[in-house]
Amino acid sequence: MCIPSGEWVIIFRHKVFTSYFKSMQFRILLCFLVLGLLPMVAVEQGFLMNYTKRAVSVRSTEVQNQCKILSNQLISSSYMRERSSELVDGELTQLSNLYDGRILIIDQDFRIIKDTYGLEENKIMVAEEVVKCFKGENTSHLVGNRFLEMTVPIQENDSKTIVGVILISASTDSIRDNREYLEHNANMILVALAVILLSLSVLCSYLLVRPIRNMGNYLQEFAVGHDDQDMEISSYAETVKVSRTFNRIISQMRVLDESRQEFVSNVSHELKTPLASMKVLADSLVMQEGAPLELYQEFMGDIAKEIERENKIITDLLSLVKMDKKAADLNIEPVSINDLLELILKRLRPIANRKNIEVVLESFRPVIAEIDEVKLTLAFTNLVENAIKYNHENGWVHVSLDADHKFFYVKVMDSGIGIPEESKQHIFERFYRVDKSHSNTIDGTGLGLAITRSAILLHKGAIKVSSVLEEGTTFSVRIPLNFVG
Ligand code: ADP
Repeated sequence: MCIPSGEWVIIFRHKVFTSYFKSMQFRILLCFLVLGLLPMVAVEQGFLMNYTKRAVSVRSTEVQNQCKILSNQLISSSYMRERSSELVDGELTQLSNLYDGRILIIDQDFRIIKDTYGLEENKIMVAEEVVKCFKGENTSHLVGNRFLEMTVPIQENDSKTIVGVILISASTDSIRDNREYLEHNANMILVALAVILLSLSVLCSYLLVRPIRNMGNYLQEFAVGHDDQDMEISSYAETVKVSRTFNRIISQMRVLDESRQEFVSNVSHELKTPLASMKVLADSLVMQEGAPLELYQEFMGDIAKEIERENKIITDLLSLVKMDKKAADLNIEPVSINDLLELILKRLRPIANRKNIEVVLESFRPVIAEIDEVKLTLAFTNLVENAIKYNHENGWVHVSLDADHKFFYVKVMDSGIGIPEESKQHIFERFYRVDKSHSNTIDGTGLGLAITRSAILLHKGAIKVSSVLEEGTTFSVRIPLNFVG
């Protein structure tokens, strides 16, 4: 199906947007904006609310004071009795104009004796506020945010008797206008601050995420094969830690890769050597026309030996591969270690007898342990076989077995040729042989100790070697009695 180029552009844009909204940079940006804007809006709203409250309270005190003055004038001009006074009427009109409102004067009979609007005069008004005011309680409240309605008592100066009530409603439009003006200005400032905040947030989130982005770029380069440089992103403690861990893993992998390559080249070399010998032997037989039967027999015997050697290398390699498997692949069961060692020595004694080597087992106690019998048999066989192989005529091999509440200990000691100090650290490596010249005289693949060590490590055990040249060697093995998976 062919997608038109316009649609490709839409798909591409959609992908870019989706990945941006999912990005860490966008999340940080959002956090900055929310954390920055919320307090600003809260402060603005709080400020405006306070302003309104304060302005209403100032206005009501002001109106109340004016009403008190008016009340005194009403008493002094006997307005309540005579119900008219030019001065007071003028004062009332002026006051109602000043507050853009309405003033009602109510007498003791709840009759309205003056209404600045002239609409309700002589009517009775028994409003709750008026009643309360006659009882000495001043009232003041906002009506629909547009008017401030208040009652103020008209009190005789000497007897303090309440002879009437002033009911005034003063407009609060000017307060509302001021609030709207302030709100408009505050919103403008808020928008300006939001723009600054947005720019700073974009910049900060970009800078904060830069090390992570660099890390991603490095990994992308690494993935396509540009792996010659270490990762070094030192901006944060976290990125330093990640860089160091990554570099460590990579160097471990490189070592592993090198050892794998070395192993492969060793394997091919070791497998080719017997084949090359066989070819030389076979070629020389083919070249020699009418070669005597004895020569045939001798060369065929040599070829058979090389085949045997090839076979041994392959068997050892297979054993080593099996040892590389995980602990879960072990076939663990309780085994008598005394019997196991006894059997190994019995099998190897005929080989020892050829060099008149005495092989002795010294068991300090019966030991039953949870082990993989096949794998540990191979490990101990290799140790005892080596003790016989690298021994002198009429020498000895002592195998001892002991245990405590946690481990069992096997020692294989011999009176053999010993291992040079500098070779001790290498003998457990695959294909390592101390003296290559041995290979002519003593059979071996250089894989035996590598197999032994792997088998012991699979059992969470340990092996160490001590040796004195021309005096003998001791391999000490320690393995837990109960298998720890
Ligand atoms: P190999 O098949 O050559 O015996 P191993 O891995 O079993 O391979 O042993 C590695 C090398 O360690 C041997 O080639 C030998 O040189 C040395 N070695 C091992 N065991 C002994 C021992 N008991 N005495 C002296 N040298 C030993």
